Amino acid sequence: MSVTVQFCGAARTVTGSCYLVQTPSGRFLIDCGLFQGQKTLKELNYHAFPFRPADIDIVLLTHAHIDHSGLLPKLVREGFRGRILATRGTIDLCSYMLPDAGSIQESEVVALNRRNAARGRSEVNPIYTQADAIASLQSFQPLDYETWADVIPGVRARYWNAGHLLGSASIEIEVDGEGSASHPLRLLASGDIGPDSKLLEPDPTAPAGFDYVISEATYGDRIRAATTPEARRQRLASEVRDAAAAKGALLIPAFAVERTQELIVDLVDLMERGQVPAAPIFLDSPLAIHATEVFRKHAASFDGNIDVNRLFNSPHLRFTETVDESKSIAKLTGFHIIIAASGMCDAGRIRHHLKHWLWSERATVLLVGYQAHGTLGRFLQEGAKSVRIQGDEIKVAARIRMIDEYSGHADGSEIARWIAARRPIQRGVFLVHGEETAIAGLAERLAERIIATAKLFQPVLDDIYELSTPAPALLDVARRRRLTPEAVTHLDWHNDMSKLVLDINDQIEAAADDRARGVIIRRLRRALEGSG
Ligand SMILES: [Zn+2]
Repeated sequence: MSVTVQFCGAARTVTGSCYLVQTPSGRFLIDCGLFQGQKTLKELNYHAFPFRPADIDIVLLTHAHIDHSGLLPKLVREGFRGRILATRGTIDLCSYMLPDAGSIQESEVVALNRRNAARGRSEVNPIYTQADAIASLQSFQPLDYETWADVIPGVRARYWNAGHLLGSASIEIEVDGEGSASHPLRLLASGDIGPDSKLLEPDPTAPAGFDYVISEATYGDRIRAATTPEARRQRLASEVRDAAAAKGALLIPAFAVERTQELIVDLVDLMERGQVPAAPIFLDSPLAIHATEVFRKHAASFDGNIDVNRLFNSPHLRFTETVDESKSIAKLTGFHIIIAASGMCDAGRIRHHLKHWLWSERATVLLVGYQAHGTLGRFLQEGAKSVRIQGDEIKVAARIRMIDEYSGHADGSEIARWIAARRPIQRGVFLVHGEETAIAGLAERLAERIIATAKLFQPVLDDIYELSTPAPALLDVARRRRLTPEAVTHLDWHNDMSKLVLDINDQIEAAADDRARGVIIRRLRRALEGSG
């Protein structure tokens, strides 16, 4: 008998969580996420899955974030006919997030096809449409935390609160008779794990005693100073006061779901207590507005001390749903706050606001979450002097600030503690869902002290491991990999190209006069001709 797992996503440096588990009685997926970040990765979303969707019996979904759920509509469109098991919170969030993702796919393709037409290339179709996303919602089936659910014959699963997002779960799985001495094979998929002291969520929990744990490592190499909700609010207060003193807009690129609601709760609370200057807070994201409604509906599941409903009704808060309302914010001049998606600035309305304000010394951009390689947010975080937005080069004069404390992810020591609490872990721990340095950092933290080094594994994309042997065995991957490990471990050429263009512009502008600029341009041209 044999049980295997294939890392179809969220392997080393690769985003987009997706694991294919095969047992003697069938096949199921844990998550089916969209690849995000570098262009090379995003192109995978257009490729075929490394399995036949019709062959998958069921999906276990850890949480609603698009890098975990975002390819479900494609899976259903391409023939998957089973159920998608998720908590009620996850289903309510997905009912807005997946259609939103579908409409983003449609509009990205419109822009891409316009460029392709100009270059005489053929049209591409969206990965899936909003209609596909809405259709996929029919497949969802709710389950409760901490209650066993049947998955396929001989396999059952139980969801535990991962404290990362409304509805988020770590998933405990048992496969009958496949463990040692005919015991069940016990597997735990972490999903994304929340930090301690998160504003609206409990600390993550799960049982102990497994054959295997698959653990995320997003912040595996980072340690944040311990914080409390009040200390975090005061950090935010000081950033807001500085932004108000600069007398321009405070732009907060935020993930529409949960991060945005946490910020609203804290900002309104600070204004009500008079700790920051009162100003309008624009929630400029239809998805964030819908997500806020889902949070209202689930208000009872949050920390009892926070009156989410009262704070969400604050007169300071303005919801801008239509494009016209969104554009009218651009007319404002003095201090005001705009929260808009996306959190990494690579899509959404935040790009319009950045285009409008980045050149101004009066503006502040406050990054409150993880910025993946290759995203506009990452370029800003790394101090780019100018950036390209919608084809235009924009100088960066705004103050770029960063708050780490709102992270939805456990840091290295919190993940290590979470893994330690799952022991004994008999056969292996797979470290996934992180950049190379994050996974290496977590491995170093765990090695020997918490888990024997020989039991730590760092799979790369499309690796398949046999799990029913006493130690996991990497199966020969004769089949074609979608990407070579090298292609994903290095920044891809798209990023190098963007940086080069920015550097050339910098050099040319910094040159003493037009003659010096001409010299630089002629040298570059000679270099280009030389390399041909
Ligand atoms: Zn997540």
